[in-house]
Amino acid sequence: MAVRNGKKSFYEEAMETFHRAADLIQMNPRVRMELEEPDFEHIFYVTVETRDRLVPLETDELKPFRDLPPSDVKAADALEPLADGKYVLHRRALLKADITIRQGVINIPGKGFFRIEKGGPRKFKAYRIQHNQVRGPYKGGIRYHKECSLDLFKTLAADMTWKTAISEVPFGGAKGGIRIDPFAYSKEEMEHVTLRYVYKLKNLMGPFLDIPAPDVGTNGEIMAYMMRQFTDGEREHHKLRGVVTGKDVRIGGSEGRVKATGQGVVYCIEEWARERKLELKGARVLIQGFGNVGSATAEILSALGAKIVAVNDVNGTIQRDAGLDVAALVHHVHQNPQNLRRTVAGFPGGTAISKDDFWGIDADILVPAALGEEIDGPVAERLKVKLVAEGANGPTTREGDRVLGARGIEVIPDIICNAGGVTVSYYEWLQNQRLEHWSEAEVNGRLEQAIKKNYAIIRDIARNRPQRTPLYDSRPYCVGQTVDVRTAAMILALKRIEAHYLIEGFSQ
Ligand code: NAD
Repeated sequence: MAVRNGKKSFYEEAMETFHRAADLIQMNPRVRMELEEPDFEHIFYVTVETRDRLVPLETDELKPFRDLPPSDVKAADALEPLADGKYVLHRRALLKADITIRQGVINIPGKGFFRIEKGGPRKFKAYRIQHNQVRGPYKGGIRYHKECSLDLFKTLAADMTWKTAISEVPFGGAKGGIRIDPFAYSKEEMEHVTLRYVYKLKNLMGPFLDIPAPDVGTNGEIMAYMMRQFTDGEREHHKLRGVVTGKDVRIGGSEGRVKATGQGVVYCIEEWARERKLELKGARVLIQGFGNVGSATAEILSALGAKIVAVNDVNGTIQRDAGLDVAALVHHVHQNPQNLRRTVAGFPGGTAISKDDFWGIDADILVPAALGEEIDGPVAERLKVKLVAEGANGPTTREGDRVLGARGIEVIPDIICNAGGVTVSYYEWLQNQRLEHWSEAEVNGRLEQAIKKNYAIIRDIARNRPQRTPLYDSRPYCVGQTVDVRTAAMILALKRIEAHYLIEGFSQ
């Protein structure tokens, strides 16, 4: 059992909601045992060959090299800049080049003095946790991040089991990835890392076995490499496109998938606002994380007239009280090749503030869309918002949750709030099976109905208001007492999952 500084592990803490909900529904003890731990925990290593790098010299190392003649590297794309200030040196740099190297140091005009660092084989720890497949193939994202662990991936894999059940998509739960800083490696190196990952996992993946998707640090490009590696050499490879979702629409991805998680977050917020007769037009919104989920949420909310008043990411925070120009911010972060860290920092249309100040801004809605455990007790004490809509997975700690509850700040829990991604992943998988292509309007229409219906059932469970409407029936899920919304979401998931075990039975 992993214990952090005498505290419970991330997984144990996350599973407290599971056990609370399981008690409330008097879950069959054997089903509880099946769900308590993952089906499989795959931990392995991928090794790849890395390229030579140019590492900038420190000021105190420069003196002996001041007279070093400049080197003329002719191939414009031969030096690939990395976010850590280094350059990857591609071999084409030597073609037709005029180069002087002294004691391993080179002077590149316009870039500076660099020490050449030898590349070579590197080893990375990799994971794929397959939590449960009673409702369908394992399904869940691939995360490339410098801080990840078995404990984290177990938690995220279990979250996927709950989320796929809440979304009523016929999948189970999985999660995985690689402990690597993707900003410190070239595009080609990341491709090779991905190919090796799939090479090792090939027998454990498949459109009817385990279906990865993008998560932190991965995107449609990585999904394309994964699909190619998995299908390469297969006679009927077109039938295997559904092995990953989140692909580019031109190679079998779905319209609406890139923005689906953010779109789902907004559908939940719309329902929350509609019930309270609040207007989203003019609502003040804080967003943490401006990657896939954060930027899509910001774009969709601002198109509805909301004001994104501040955005925080791993490298900085920006604020504009009258509302940030979201289109310009998206351009600054995602369409600007100079912005290697894909950060909001340095955006000219906002004022830089500290992360600490970010939490204290007066606003209506906070959308955490970065990593887990950001909203702990002290942060929850500082928030001046009415709603936390969890775009990220696990952004609120137990203590954070307790404080939010005590302060009357409402929460839309992650397993419904960010379920838009996996819902549209299912639509992508369906389109792949049928060799179809749906319009964005069709995708969003289905998504809206699915999210809003399941959100309404969760709300009924929380308020103990069993009812049958033309759209849904919450009667089988209410437990005879009111519960918090996070527990309500888990109850919905567990009742749907348990039904499979109870109706299908167990093979011994
Ligand atoms: P991403 O890699 O595209 O973006 C991550 C963002 O978080 C970046 O802006 C980064 O700067 C920021 N960030 C990282 N560490 C931070 C820190 N310590 N403080 C502040 N900001 C930090 O990732 P993404 O795909 O947008 O995923 C974001 C969250 O949403 C994750 O929790 C992920 O599991 C969850 N999620 C993603 C999807 C999806 O479809 N991509 C679906 C469901 C849930």
